[in-house]
Amino acid sequence: MEGKVNVLRARRLAEKTRIERGARYRTWHRFTIHLTELGVPVGMALALHGPPHRTRRDAPVDQALPLEAAWRTGTPSGGRGGTGRRDASGEDGPRDRTGGVTVIGLPDVVRACLFDLDGVLTRTATIHAAAWKEMFDGYLRERAARAREEFVPFDTVADYEMYVDGKPRYDGVRSFLAARGIELPQGQDSDPPDAETIFGLGNRKNELVLRMIHEGGVEAYEGSVRYLRAARDHGLRCAVVSSSTNTHDVLVAAGIEGFFDARIDGVVAEREGLKGKPAPDTFLAGARALGVAPERAAVFEDALAGVAAGRAGDFVYIVGVDRVGQAGALREHGASIVVSDLCELLGDR
Ligand SMILES: [Mg+2]
Repeated sequence: MEGKVNVLRARRLAEKTRIERGARYRTWHRFTIHLTELGVPVGMALALHGPPHRTRRDAPVDQALPLEAAWRTGTPSGGRGGTGRRDASGEDGPRDRTGGVTVIGLPDVVRACLFDLDGVLTRTATIHAAAWKEMFDGYLRERAARAREEFVPFDTVADYEMYVDGKPRYDGVRSFLAARGIELPQGQDSDPPDAETIFGLGNRKNELVLRMIHEGGVEAYEGSVRYLRAARDHGLRCAVVSSSTNTHDVLVAAGIEGFFDARIDGVVAEREGLKGKPAPDTFLAGARALGVAPERAAVFEDALAGVAAGRAGDFVYIVGVDRVGQAGALREHGASIVVSDLCELLGDR
């Protein structure tokens, strides 16, 4: 009965929204999310509403492919990745969208996947959080002792998520210090790790990360590796889009560099003058590198700033990856769906 009521409400909403077909694409997206929150399977929500309104007239779109709001369906993967069949899952996970076969949990229009690195593909987010803490606590302790003030440590959950996660390193330093009312000179990128500048502190943090990676190695999430294989099996182009200047080394250390057609990392961003997340520049550059418009590309992110970057770039689908219990915040920042592991999109967590 409840399901029937939800469908009726969904139809009314769909009718209302069809009248406003000229509304921005984003409205369509929010509407779809709204329907799914009512308990309507996503496939039905899309069928009720029809295709999104395209707003980027200048964006390159592969005209050979129909821009329709169908979901990726087809034969089950014969490879090591997708299993083909997917069952309904919990509130945050994907649902059985059409009652039929769905494969890798993406709208059928998607032709490319843009993956963040730390926290999405590799377990390096915990390494970064630990390095940020060691660096900031060392500096804050020194500073508090000098000023005879109380030492308030860096919080690896709240401070990490709010001020540094997903951002270019020096933006993270500046952002967190500003929150503590601390202003330091910018310095230069060649500043030594003990320099009391934005660059100096950033370089100190990077030294710690490299030491931790060197000592402990890098591990890719098993579910992410399976998802990458499934994406490749289904002909999707893949890029990694990370603020990290160590992206290449991390990909090699984790043994997953072969999955990607393009890499937009901190080195490329600096060379090309791209703004870091939450600006959409790096994801847009990743889509360009793959020859795909944002309307046909999915973003995979675990950071609030990264999800916001995907939303700002008007990407058709944004998968929020919740490793630390921030599903609500990921949705608020623009995630289309939130999963705790990419294998949930394959329907076999
Ligand atoms: Mg990340």
